[in-house]
Amino acid sequence: MISARVRVFLALMIGIALLVVLVAFLQRRSGYYVPSKADPPPTPASASPPDSANPSPEPSSKPDPEIPSNPTAPPIGFVGTLKLVLPVAGVQPNQLLDTFTDSRSEGRMHDAIDIPAAQGTPVVAVADGQITKLFQSERGGITIYQLSTDQKLIFHYAHLQRYADGLSEGKAVRQGEVIGFVGDTGNATPGNYHLHFSIAVVSDPKRHWEGTNINPYPLLRN
Ligand SMILES: [Zn+2]
Repeated sequence: MISARVRVFLALMIGIALLVVLVAFLQRRSGYYVPSKADPPPTPASASPPDSANPSPEPSSKPDPEIPSNPTAPPIGFVGTLKLVLPVAGVQPNQLLDTFTDSRSEGRMHDAIDIPAAQGTPVVAVADGQITKLFQSERGGITIYQLSTDQKLIFHYAHLQRYADGLSEGKAVRQGEVIGFVGDTGNATPGNYHLHFSIAVVSDPKRHWEGTNINPYPLLRN
């Protein structure tokens, strides 16, 4: 009888002990699960910032090309309607070299096109317009500034040997009219006969030096 009661007691104790162990085991497992569940959330949370960071560069990189294309588009679209003639007599379009982005002294960009030609070759107006300034500069030598008829573009001719006879500031010139002759004045270096030609888009036709130079090359090639 007694041994039977003891067995029952022991069985109960063992049962309780097993239950306690089982509960403790489950608590530990659930305890492990909690941090392991907490760990994954940070991972997707830390993975979602890159995801949300990736889309943000994409939209920001998409407007970026639009921004530079906008400032360049208006001048290109604008001057694309122009039909310029080559400013140096006898030079063919396929002889031109694009030197617009060439570097010059003091970190400057060329912002112009150089057209080599023999000394004294006639220089002609690329379009109709008005001579706004005849100027001798240290760099450009004997130069001409010509304003387009719509007053939006300044054509700049430099390193001239001399002006055409009768050329004066304020004179209206026609496309193809001889306005000067190729030389090596200014910083062209002696014997390096060429025309330095640039086109500037101006907001104020009286302030040609504030213009933004555009590449003459594609306009003269067409
Ligand atoms: Zn030049």
